Amino acid sequence: MSEIIAVMNQKGGCGKTTTVVNTATSLAVMGKSVLVIDMDPQGNATTSFGIDKTKLENTIYDAIIGDVSVKKVTIPTFIKNLFIVPSNISLSGAGVELSKKENYHIVLKETLKDLPPLFDYIFIDLPPSLGVITVNALVAADSVLIPIQAEYYALEGVADLINTINLVKKRLRTPVPIKGILLTLYDKRTRLSKDVYKELKNHFGSTNLLFNTVIPRNIRLAEAPSYGKPCLIYDSESTGTKAYLSLAKEIIERDGGN
Ligand code: ADP
Ligand code: MG
Repeated sequence: MSEIIAVMNQKGGCGKTTTVVNTATSLAVMGKSVLVIDMDPQGNATTSFGIDKTKLENTIYDAIIGDVSVKKVTIPTFIKNLFIVPSNISLSGAGVELSKKENYHIVLKETLKDLPPLFDYIFIDLPPSLGVITVNALVAADSVLIPIQAEYYALEGVADLINTINLVKKRLRTPVPIKGILLTLYDKRTRLSKDVYKELKNHFGSTNLLFNTVIPRNIRLAEAPSYGKPCLIYDSESTGTKAYLSLAKEIIERDGGN
């Protein structure tokens, strides 16, 4: 059975796409079969794998709005065991089109039923909003991974996010467990980063929700997408690469270690 993990935070720039691309790559290199579903019209996850988003025959849009099977939209990346359902700007109108549909919130879940049972992990990369696409991802996902940037208002949006998760749980009777909360863009030289870490520990420490792995601010992680490569391929020795390998290990451990 595939485990579908939606990487979600309505704040932009907190490391969602970086987390999806590099965690998925780490798991694939560790021998897992992995699919990335790019659900952001910006298509940043798509370009991070060196795929030209302007030249795609089909995207996630065709799978959820059109009548193209998601199987047909799934393409291999240049990394073994790692596939992607790409996205581009065509997805930007999908929210409005989706909301016109009856049962608009289950469209993605229904779409993904066509996938072969090939993948150990499926990661959904989302735009920075709590709109229809995000609700669809919440309904389709088995769990949610929340990246939080080590900065001053870090925890502010998290309450809204958890409210949305709870709303979906209540209204749609779909429980969506939180896979984990991940501190990103951590800069060990700054007091602010340390303070945010402490705050997260205070807030979530007792719940086991906070991943032990912390993702450091690492220039290699920021450079890699412009070369169309995940960080592990771009610089295998970088601290960013090591951090995402450690997160992948932790995810496998949380799943019982197989
Ligand atoms: P989101 O998908 O949440 O908007 P991104 O993953 O695109 O966030 O990250 C926002 C920007 O910060 C990107 O330019 C990305 O390369 C950079 N970035 C993300 N994580 C790190 C990190 N740990 N260290 C350095 N730069 C990072
Ligand atoms: Mg993104």
